[in-house]
Amino acid sequence: MIAGRLHWKPPLAKLAGRNALLALDFPNGTLTLTEAGSKRRASLHILRGEQALYDIDPGGYELFSPGTDLSGFRTALTRENRTLKRALTDPRLISGVGNAYSDEILHAAQLSPIALTHKLTDNDWERLFAATLSTLTLWTDRLTAEAGKAFPEKVTAFRPDMAVHGRYGQPCPRCGQPIQRIRYADNETDYCAQCQTGGKVLADRSLSRLLGKDWPRTLDELEALKRK
Ligand SMILES: [Zn+2]
Repeated sequence: MIAGRLHWKPPLAKLAGRNALLALDFPNGTLTLTEAGSKRRASLHILRGEQALYDIDPGGYELFSPGTDLSGFRTALTRENRTLKRALTDPRLISGVGNAYSDEILHAAQLSPIALTHKLTDNDWERLFAATLSTLTLWTDRLTAEAGKAFPEKVTAFRPDMAVHGRYGQPCPRCGQPIQRIRYADNETDYCAQCQTGGKVLADRSLSRLLGKDWPRTLDELEALKRK
């Protein structure tokens, strides 16, 4: 998560430095796992059998499985009354979105990160569902094309061609107003007030309190929420 990276090295590469955690040797190369920073969030699970894999699946809605539709998406995200930011990044509710892409999705859908899932209109849900699929498809295609035939080495969640994520203070690509941010726990949410919150810029601190109440303080708390 976040600071973890996979690297592809020549065969029998040595584990170098304190960030290098794991090396898997293959005949044609070595796959290493590194974790930058001091958080030490990396873990390795060794499982036996397919059922063991399902047992650690948080169970979120799978967006790119056959049969995915607006109604299933809405049902999954309204299981709990959450802020949209929290709902979209909760792997128990929806699979594979995360912090950066939730910002991009909410900007594309023109919805506030602090809107509550039980308060959205039918029209909001239609925009959110369409924006979720189109944003993830756009970025999957972009990153696949960028990686080309080589192993992707410069992996980052901050990309200059993102609309809002990591672009605090820079102009919104849709309206030109400066991107705003809310910081809480270990996270940051970036949004455009003009496009997403009816022009309302709330103080970073008060918004942060609002989101903070809806947010697990630590990763351990988030883990504890996982569906049993
Ligand atoms: Zn805007």
